Amino acid sequence: MKNHWQSTCKRTAFAMLIGLSLMQLPIVGAAPAYAMPPSYGEFLQQVEEGRVLSVTIDDRNGVAEVKAEDPATDGTPQVYKINLIPIRESITDLTQDLTARGIDVDYKRSGDGGALMGIIGNLLLPVLLLVGLFFLFRRSSAGGGPGQAMNFGKSRARFQMEAKTGVKFDDVAGIEEAKEELQEVVTFLKKPERFTAVGAKIPKGVLLVGPPGTGKTLLAKAIAGEAGVPFFSISGSEFVEMFVGVGASRVRDLFKKAKESAPCIIFIDEIDAVGRQRGAGIGGGNDEREQTLNQLLTEMDGFEGNTGIIIIAATNRADVLDSALMRPGRFDRQVTVDRPSFKGRHEILKVHARDKKLSDDVNLENIARRTPGFAGADLANLLNEAAILAARRQQLEIKDKDIDDAIDRITIGLTKPPLLDGKSKRLIAYHEVGHALLMTLLENSDPLNKVTIIPRSSGAGGFAQPIPNEEQMDSGLYSRAWMLDRVVVGFGGRAAEDIVFGYGEVTTGASNDLQQNTSLVRQMVTRFGMSDLGPLMLEQPNQEVFLGGGWQNRSEYSEDIAARIDQQVREILERCYQKARSILLENRDAVDRLAETLIERETLDGEEFRSIVEEYATLPEKAQLPPKIA
Ligand code: ADP
Ligand code: ZN
Ligand code: MG
Repeated sequence: MKNHWQSTCKRTAFAMLIGLSLMQLPIVGAAPAYAMPPSYGEFLQQVEEGRVLSVTIDDRNGVAEVKAEDPATDGTPQVYKINLIPIRESITDLTQDLTARGIDVDYKRSGDGGALMGIIGNLLLPVLLLVGLFFLFRRSSAGGGPGQAMNFGKSRARFQMEAKTGVKFDDVAGIEEAKEELQEVVTFLKKPERFTAVGAKIPKGVLLVGPPGTGKTLLAKAIAGEAGVPFFSISGSEFVEMFVGVGASRVRDLFKKAKESAPCIIFIDEIDAVGRQRGAGIGGGNDEREQTLNQLLTEMDGFEGNTGIIIIAATNRADVLDSALMRPGRFDRQVTVDRPSFKGRHEILKVHARDKKLSDDVNLENIARRTPGFAGADLANLLNEAAILAARRQQLEIKDKDIDDAIDRITIGLTKPPLLDGKSKRLIAYHEVGHALLMTLLENSDPLNKVTIIPRSSGAGGFAQPIPNEEQMDSGLYSRAWMLDRVVVGFGGRAAEDIVFGYGEVTTGASNDLQQNTSLVRQMVTRFGMSDLGPLMLEQPNQEVFLGGGWQNRSEYSEDIAARIDQQVREILERCYQKARSILLENRDAVDRLAETLIERETLDGEEFRSIVEEYATLPEKAQLPPKIA
């Protein structure tokens, strides 16, 4: 019963399985009485159609026995075996997915072959141990005396080196400002003379700041690729080891190797793992981390700006970094890599569509519009998921529907079989219609994109999804009127349950809606100055107590104010709830008709929904002709 746009990304292991399985479809084990047992692909098809009754996995032999409804016969289920060997690594994922869809999964250990495997297993362990010891011994005696094998830090080079990254600026899209800033770095690497001739010092370090998946690593690789220099990379978390001194020795090692191959790029991912503010924290600092950081600073100071090494570091939290890192001569350039805007997403989609077969009905611009909040990595993943869906549906190209389904999978979760007709289904239908109708009728709400009562693996029984307002998303500016309408829409589900089924019958299905509404209204009161308490900020955003600071000033208001905040929040919520109720009551005929249609059709898109509403009420101006999306 989610009524909002979610951008959390749930990877769908199931989809990955399907991609694998389409390539490899041998059948092991004959099914009794069937000439051609279904292939793995057909099995997945049956899963999707909700025809599979139970699966018994025999993971020793790598087969599964499937019991499925057979439309060809009258009620006798079809029983067949499928080969699981090609997907061995993902059997647990498969199990989880099947279970999530309510399919019985059993494990069976077959007797035959077990004894032999047992013997092999028993023999294997001592043999492996011996071989291991042999190598350990050989390494320590051959490599310059004993102790070599124990010389961690040095012997285990934990950084990666790529002589050629093969990434070009063309592969990075949608983050134009960052790209432009960094274009210059390529020139530093390629033609340092141009700068040194006029006495300019080439910068040593660039700090890329931005959320995960926005293309920081990609950008660093593109710089190396464009300049044609090697790319050394290490992650900050790999510097930080249990043993004091190991991190520092890794830093030394890394810089030594890099100097040998200059000009080059050193990329330090997650630099916040080492570069946190020193001396912060309760009960003293972390010696190891400080040593590593000091070593890093020493190394950066130790080489001249013109040796041709440029260090690029990435983090999503610049605020926690030690200020010493940001001094001139160190990471003195900061480049922000933000989540892409609508236009940026369109560009990124174009890049990733290059190697995909898209059908003519796919409109990348519409997809960009439907994916606010997606970072580059999410968009790349989206197109890949869509391609997997297309392959599984045995199409030769990716259709708009595949992309649409992939967006829903990523944002809301896998679909589950629809509920059987009954009270729950009716209740969910009314609940979602409540959200959807308010979204349609309220002047300041984003219009409806679609409403559905097909449940999702995330636990949502259905959802009503708005078309987000791109301009608002990009600017991050939300008006008070918009927020209030959003709260009213959020109450639509509960209000509809209440009106139609009675207060005694309202359900827990609205708890997520209530939580969101409460948190939004609280912020209106305490952070945005949008209540009768006046234009003042009472709480800092994101008020976590983070090591070392920020304890004392937790609440910046008196108990008296605290009580008034609670009272304001409650008042606004109550007003919004009453508004939701009264609009739905006024449109009770439309509500019934919409719910009936939704029960029958299970999904309605915005257009269809609005055309029904129009028979009963006048649509507000904003809903007259919204852009049609997929
Ligand atoms: P970060 O380092 O910021 O977490 P990555 O650079 O590792 O993100 O991005 C992961 C993948 O996502 C990239 O390899 C690329 O396929 C895709 N990607 C991310 N951002 C972009 C972008 N701006 N343009 C094109 N592809 C992108
Ligand atoms: Zn809801
Ligand atoms: Mg990265």
